Amino acid sequence: MEILDYDIVILGSGIAGLTAAIHASNATDKKAKIAIVTKLHAMRSHSVAAEGGISGVLYPEVTNDSLDLHAYDTIKGSDYLADQDAVELLVKNAPKEVEFFDHIGVSWNRNEKAQIEQRAFGGMSIPRTAFAADKTGFFMMRALYDEVVNLENVSIFHENFAYSLLLDENHFVGLSVMDLATGSLRIFHAKAGIIATGGASRMYDFTTTSHSSTGDGQALVYKAGLPLKDMEFVQFHPTALVPNGILITEAARGEGGYLTNSKGERFMALYAKKQMELAPRDIVSRAIITEIRAGRGLREELSGLEYIHLDLRHLGKNVIDEKLPMIREIAQKSLNIDPVEEPLPVRPAAHFTMGGIHTDLYGRVMADEDKTIVDGLWAIGECGCVSVHGSNRLGSNSLSQCAVWGRIAGNEIADYLKKTADAPKLRKEIVNAESLKISAILDKKGSVNPYFIKSELQKTMGEFVYVYRTKNDLFNAKRRISELKKMFNDIYLADKGKLFNTNLRDVLEIDNLLDLAEAVTLCALNRNESRGAHAIAEYPNRDDTNWLKHSIVYKTKEGVGIGYKPVTITRWKPQPRIY
Ligand SMILES: Cc1cc2nc3c(=O)[nH]c(=O)nc-3n(C[C@H](O)[C@H](O)[C@H](O)COP(=O)(O)OP(=O)(O)OC[C@H]3O[C@@H](n4cnc5c(N)ncnc54)[C@H](O)[C@@H]3O)c2cc1C
Repeated sequence: MEILDYDIVILGSGIAGLTAAIHASNATDKKAKIAIVTKLHAMRSHSVAAEGGISGVLYPEVTNDSLDLHAYDTIKGSDYLADQDAVELLVKNAPKEVEFFDHIGVSWNRNEKAQIEQRAFGGMSIPRTAFAADKTGFFMMRALYDEVVNLENVSIFHENFAYSLLLDENHFVGLSVMDLATGSLRIFHAKAGIIATGGASRMYDFTTTSHSSTGDGQALVYKAGLPLKDMEFVQFHPTALVPNGILITEAARGEGGYLTNSKGERFMALYAKKQMELAPRDIVSRAIITEIRAGRGLREELSGLEYIHLDLRHLGKNVIDEKLPMIREIAQKSLNIDPVEEPLPVRPAAHFTMGGIHTDLYGRVMADEDKTIVDGLWAIGECGCVSVHGSNRLGSNSLSQCAVWGRIAGNEIADYLKKTADAPKLRKEIVNAESLKISAILDKKGSVNPYFIKSELQKTMGEFVYVYRTKNDLFNAKRRISELKKMFNDIYLADKGKLFNTNLRDVLEIDNLLDLAEAVTLCALNRNESRGAHAIAEYPNRDDTNWLKHSIVYKTKEGVGIGYKPVTITRWKPQPRIY
């Protein structure tokens, strides 16, 4: 097994990982030797698919916006589960990050005064989402990638799949990685590491996320015995195209799109009188499912999926072409529907994981509820749960989170290196054990097709752990996941080769998804209240007396353990959420 020594290893090359690499490099005067490890080509990271934009208060004197208002909207949107110190850090730093991306070459849409244009997003009191048409993620990634490839101290290892997080006692030691092209194994042994592996929504079948969003970073941490936080909160985006699940950005409603049921009614008036289609995503998704259950949906014949309409026709061709060109192209190419002429069929799809790796305010990975920090390890972006989104994220707050904590982690890690002479030693036993892990999987001689397990898992999550849950649903999901986990021990691999063994990669991802789906389900089963994206029939209301707390879930030898941790409240006392 090859051992590669670095100062810093960053796992993930999305907006969070690449931003962290730039800031870590700058903060060490380009002296730190940095490796970025990514299972895709870096530019295929899921962040390129981000559409609608990035939040930040840019021109308060013109718009009457303020940092407090951005914080309030975010906290209210989170159904008061966000840690308010983290939200304050987000909103304070987000404007600087939009400016940073402006400097590195993102071509923002601009108004007639050449100011960066901002559009409305759900749950925001004021339009504060900066955007580059409906391809914001692509433009941000392109600018970041151009910067990173020019840094001589940073090397990118494309198509390298990490399969273990290496810890010694409470210290980060490195990562075990398989080079997908050759199948050869290597350990990145480093003084410090950042995990930035994105979300886990691929535990669902109907999802807006790319096939690579399999929660590997969260699973590596969880398998290493470290805790995850708030896993029961999976965001279902209200408007995914039926039947393929491709996202129709919230910006379509931000620009004025309507949601209508089979009777042609703008039903959001019943659920969020004031903000209508621009209520937060949890509320709009519940409204859509309620309409469908009341028989006011439509049905797509082939898939059997029920949907409602997103109507953009009144915006006109010019607005659609200028502000939403990609979604027009997607609808035309994938469904042969032109939103200029016809409404789009949409329903809620798994979109974002609010929960993730339990970190402190600065993105440092925690080893327990709130006392012990893992030495030398950070988790940022969608895989980390610093808890700015609580139980429901507001759209466009994720890209700002990736940028803000990308910089924070980059700077923090530079400080950490000043105090850290050497990486913890890589013990021989660790190397030996890691070199055997992959061959043990390749040698499996069972009878179960792993893709059957994946599709059953996705079906189970879609059926039982969707927008509305019941205790019975969750018990069913728990039982089924546990059966699937048993079946996983008896899989076979059709491809036992070394070169680009995507079968092996998929199996590693399925293993990760099984663990995370179990964590989501068990945390959901334990939470006896409805809050944000967790709506459970038996407990339809939020219960601040008993449940204003984060779930902390971890693996033990005896099974899965669940603990709780208080929410940090600074200035905004929980209130009823009316939109
Ligand atoms: C369609 C869509 C549109 C969106 N639009 C917006 C928007 O407009 N605004 C907004 O704020 N949010 C948006 N979001 C959410 C936002 O895009 C994501 O939360 C964000 O891009 C995540 O970035 P990231 O850097 O954390 O991870 P990602 O961009 O997902 O990158 C993950 C990285 O980790 C690597 N990786 C993962 N596992 C491994 C492994 N085992 N080994 C090696 N490498 C690994 C991958 O190769 C990749 O480089 C959108 C989400 C979707 C699904």
